[in-house]
Amino acid sequence: MRSHGNRLFGVAFLLASSLAMVGAQATTPVVSAVAPPALQEGDKLLGGYGPYRANNDLLYYHLDVRVDPAKQYLSGVNAIRFRMLEDGTRIQLDLVPTFKIDGISLENTHGASLPLKYQRIAGRSIYVDFPRKLHKGQVYTVDFHYSGHPVEMGRFGGFVFRKDPMGRPLVNTACEEEGASVWWPNKDQWRDEVESMDISVEAPSDLVEVSGGRFQGKTDLHDGFTRWNWKVQYPINNYDVSLNIGTYTHFSDTYNNLSLDYYVFPEDLEKAKHQFVQVKDMLKAYEHFFGEYPFPKDGYKLVEALYSGVENQTAITYGNHFENGYLGRPKTGIGTWFDFIIVHESAHEWFGNSITARDRSDMWIHEGWANYCETLFVEDKWGKQNGLTYLNTGKEGVKNARPIITEEGIYGTPPVDQYKKGALFLNTVRSVVNDDAVWFKLLHDYYQHFKYQTIMTTDVAAFFSTETGLKLTPIFNQYLRHAAIPTLELRFDDAAHTVSYRWQADEPGFAMPVRVGRHDGWKIVEPTTEWKVLPTSLSRENFEVATDLYYVNVHKF
Ligand SMILES: [Zn+2]
Repeated sequence: MRSHGNRLFGVAFLLASSLAMVGAQATTPVVSAVAPPALQEGDKLLGGYGPYRANNDLLYYHLDVRVDPAKQYLSGVNAIRFRMLEDGTRIQLDLVPTFKIDGISLENTHGASLPLKYQRIAGRSIYVDFPRKLHKGQVYTVDFHYSGHPVEMGRFGGFVFRKDPMGRPLVNTACEEEGASVWWPNKDQWRDEVESMDISVEAPSDLVEVSGGRFQGKTDLHDGFTRWNWKVQYPINNYDVSLNIGTYTHFSDTYNNLSLDYYVFPEDLEKAKHQFVQVKDMLKAYEHFFGEYPFPKDGYKLVEALYSGVENQTAITYGNHFENGYLGRPKTGIGTWFDFIIVHESAHEWFGNSITARDRSDMWIHEGWANYCETLFVEDKWGKQNGLTYLNTGKEGVKNARPIITEEGIYGTPPVDQYKKGALFLNTVRSVVNDDAVWFKLLHDYYQHFKYQTIMTTDVAAFFSTETGLKLTPIFNQYLRHAAIPTLELRFDDAAHTVSYRWQADEPGFAMPVRVGRHDGWKIVEPTTEWKVLPTSLSRENFEVATDLYYVNVHKF
């Protein structure tokens, strides 16, 4: 998802907290309904992987909800199946206090249901307590019933009741920044994903409902609502779970054996048929670089929404006005050669949805990679030089004020630098590897090695280092764990016809080759943080550094 920094949990949460007290009083059996304070960014219970999360492994969700746009009301149940990793009597789940908890129960194999005690802790976290010990290795299912009026929050609203441009009801979800627990109860973190999921949504019968996964059919309930069933047949991170309810018209296509399904407002049908042709170019490029589209059994879908778009797994929301560029920008340059939302959000199917960061701190694993995929898409379609031009366009917007990897275990969103700086960093590593055949095999093997897993940056750095035989971890650390990029210091001695050079960097032991001299005949030098001397006939003014290939500062003196 496109993200613009940290804007979380404002007035909506203050309101939500006070509402929750009312809801909790009506709920039985509650041990104690602690009045939840407004959730602050930096929440460790939500952001961390505490003992009552770590003691279990998610297997499966069945999210089963009714959405009533007329009443702006959401109600239902999530069946949460998990395996205990150790003996215990408590697990942690999450749901914003906006919603009333209508009961949490333990299901047994005979179909009986045992009500459980629970307590709402700070913000949205909930401790669920079991009357008897849950045993390591055993599988349990908890049904979590809830209801209430969703409160919009964050950039895209989390869960929104809106009207489409023709004034018809429209419901969309988008909750990467805000967390999935803004609209449904779950274990709201990134490390642990269910293996599969069912999504059932009851929506007014005159509307269409689209979620992620493969459509399983719909049933008219004869009460004004129709129940839509979707099956997610792969691991899925919580924020990628989505529902969309609107006056959608559907058309479909195929790419090789992959189903492509598109849901747009009826008046946009012809524009969509024209614009979505680009999906095949995107798939061709990414399958070439990384291998098969990650979720073939669930298919690929685009669903029209009012915001620009997010990467909801296999049901990407699209609001880019059926134009190239991003929301009409930029009007010039390579950026208008393709539809940004199709190319960027779809890249997340590989990087973000299939490979997922274990912790929000390492979100560049999603956004830096998706941004770099834009460059690869340009390179695949229009050549390497255009890819390089695309990559380097806008790099002056990178602030380098904070590291793009933030503190682990703290709820928040890393700086927006994670997009462009992440891509510039990856291209720098490509220049360090200095062999395109090796580089593209590395990208392919990286994806294949880690697909459907949650990982951290240390895993990426270790894989890249092992596969290339290069000591890349200090380079990863300098670019990702420090604010500043390395500066190449060049000290010229005109009389001696030499230039002294070294890296100015934060990371101990930082060393990185770089191309210098003349762009029509680069020479690769291997600076460290110690001065070295190179003979040169070039003057200070004519001595160049390949700053399009390496994202570095240059200081000549
Ligand atoms: Zn993104």
